[in-house]
Amino acid sequence: MKKWTLLALLSAVLMVLAACGDSEEEAGGGESGEGESYRVGIDTTYPPFEFEEAGEYTGIDIDLINAIAENQGFEIDFNPMDFGGIIPALQADQLDVAIAGMSITDERKEIVDFSDPYFDAGLSLVVAEDNSDITSLEDLEGKTVAVKSGTTGAQFARDNEAEYGYEISQFEDSPSMFQEVSNGNADVLLEDYPVIAYAIAESELALKTVGERLTGDQYGIAVLKGENAELLEKINAGLQELRDSGEYDEILNKYIAE
Ligand code: GLN
Repeated sequence: MKKWTLLALLSAVLMVLAACGDSEEEAGGGESGEGESYRVGIDTTYPPFEFEEAGEYTGIDIDLINAIAENQGFEIDFNPMDFGGIIPALQADQLDVAIAGMSITDERKEIVDFSDPYFDAGLSLVVAEDNSDITSLEDLEGKTVAVKSGTTGAQFARDNEAEYGYEISQFEDSPSMFQEVSNGNADVLLEDYPVIAYAIAESELALKTVGERLTGDQYGIAVLKGENAELLEKINAGLQELRDSGEYDEILNKYIAE
């Protein structure tokens, strides 16, 4: 009798384990079994969120996703790319997840599902340090505005181009865009204020922000829409755990001075 009970129990446990295995596989990036590996798209020219230091990826986004992967038991395969290529790569099934200082927008929500917001950001107008003519959008008539492809900054520039009468000049990464304004080839650029504040503080860039912040938005972690509900749940659960444990604040404080 005892033996039977044990056998029944054992087979029940095995069935549950098998079921868990299955559902994990469906949710994941196609790898099998435990410790699923997800392809994570990142924009490594975007400090303090993502950058390379001594050959390692580092920054707020990198630490957050690594910590989430650890508390949710999955592996990460980082795929660095230009920001403008990240959503297309998700759509082409070349990525499972994107964390790239990516702002949550209604337009993007039609293509991707976002995690809970994890950071407040928004756009600032940035000019050369010695520029005293430009303090707001009203001063941009006939000027050149540098933006980065695929970003909310590029979208904002397009949306307001007709009203303010400037030319748009597009770049693939933030450092090239910063360079363009500091060397005088463009008059202004649009960038998320935490990013430009960090760049000005940490490097020799002769740039400054002017005027009011133009927009407010929040960063989210993205997965392809409608196909990754379980992965998104893990990401949100992981994020919440980091907030509860205080690790989220530790990560932010490591990169951003109070
Ligand atoms: N937050 C901006 C966006 O989502 C810029 C992101 C980036 O350049 N990595 O478009």
